Amino acid sequence: MNTRLPLRSRWIALLMALWMAPGIPHARAAGSDRPNVVIILADDMGYGDVGFNGCKDIATPNIDSLAAHGVRFANGYVSQPLCSPSRAGLMTGRYEEQFGHENNPAYLPNDDKIGLPLDQVTLAQVMRDAGYATGAVGKWHLGAAPCFWPNARGFTEYFGFLGGGHVYMPYKKGDPLYQEYVKHALKNSLFGEYLRPVMRNDKPVGFNEYMTDALANEAESFITRHKSEPFFLYLAFNAVHSPLEAPDKYVSRFPDIADKRRRTYAGMTSAMDDGIGRVLKTLRDNRLEDKTLIWFMSDNGGPVYTEMPTHNAPLRGYKHQVYEGGIHVPFVAQWRGHLPEGTVYEQPSISLDIFPTVAAVTAAKVPEKVKLDGVNLLPYVTGKISTPPHDALYWRNRSAGYQWAVRQGDYKLLDVGNTVQLYDLKDDLPEAKDLAASMPDVVARLQKLHDAWNAKLIEPLWPMPKPTKEVFLGSIEFTDMEAGE
Ligand code: CA
Repeated sequence: MNTRLPLRSRWIALLMALWMAPGIPHARAAGSDRPNVVIILADDMGYGDVGFNGCKDIATPNIDSLAAHGVRFANGYVSQPLCSPSRAGLMTGRYEEQFGHENNPAYLPNDDKIGLPLDQVTLAQVMRDAGYATGAVGKWHLGAAPCFWPNARGFTEYFGFLGGGHVYMPYKKGDPLYQEYVKHALKNSLFGEYLRPVMRNDKPVGFNEYMTDALANEAESFITRHKSEPFFLYLAFNAVHSPLEAPDKYVSRFPDIADKRRRTYAGMTSAMDDGIGRVLKTLRDNRLEDKTLIWFMSDNGGPVYTEMPTHNAPLRGYKHQVYEGGIHVPFVAQWRGHLPEGTVYEQPSISLDIFPTVAAVTAAKVPEKVKLDGVNLLPYVTGKISTPPHDALYWRNRSAGYQWAVRQGDYKLLDVGNTVQLYDLKDDLPEAKDLAASMPDVVARLQKLHDAWNAKLIEPLWPMPKPTKEVFLGSIEFTDMEAGE
């Protein structure tokens, strides 16, 4: 500093230097009205597998408490009926088909082309640039090469796994079940992802307990460490995705469920609900409940066609489909004292709305070049705006044949590969009565909307990955799942 300046000027220069200095945390006192943000994502959870949607055999008191103290989005959607593209939409606030992220990425650590395109701006980048501490915990699934890792996409802290899922137990190499998994992985690269090391930032570190517990611990730790500054936490459980694994301490809570698979699934769900309860308690204990906007949703519907005994009832269809069962998910937001408590918002809303809502309430600056498809939901759920947030919502998917759908108002037109079907979701949520033949005008109107939207999209940048033997052979090294010394 120039010591020849008068004392007052020196003080001003010092203050300006501090103000301009990069990397200084924006302490809570400097922006006390900026809420923390926690996004909790479940994986493959069925619409009907949560208490607030009518689940009877699995209690989810903590997830239900978010609905009781917040807003339940009764027509809450994700932008894709499968894992990775749904996350790409959530993370960018944009229909991911516009930038080619339409399929799951193969797990290819040396391929810098297969992952969330690097020209897309993530919510984490925006939050980090707004001075938030940013942390990702759990499943990533947006690219396995280092350029796509969470730390390269806006998260300053990361604990989790990069692929589409993970085994839940900290197996040792000699465990018989682990050996079976390894055999399976050597034949099926998609399962091989589930045995990759758990990472902390860019280092493999392993894990020592049931995965869902480990992820909840990390979330608690992140909140505790950052309680005095604004933070953004993305907690992406792999629960309740396959494989079907839960320890007795959770499974034994459900002696009345006769079906063994459903009982284990109930244990997995209950563990996640406990973990969410611990996150809520940590916020409460630190008096952050009314300073934290919390979202909970599933990334897509339940895969009822697999070994996973999920329930999407009363919805038709499942993961990979544009019927409601694939895209209409449990979806809630809580921000005590700011969102109306215990309310139900009926207008169609979508995961793409989270980015702009979060940016608006945190005053985070979205770069001008970013064209968000979502909208800030806050004025809608508080009743300031009574029109629907969206004129229409759109889907396109080709993970199970070429499919598309569009919803405008209560009408939904969809094509799952044969001919268009039209449903009035107000009276027919289970999509049982096809009105296409009797309402040609509505079909034509919605078809036109779809065609105009579809014309703006590009072809997928990569195909759906197929199970192969080639991907990992020669490069994968199977090690203990447990953390080292
Ligand atoms: Ca999923």
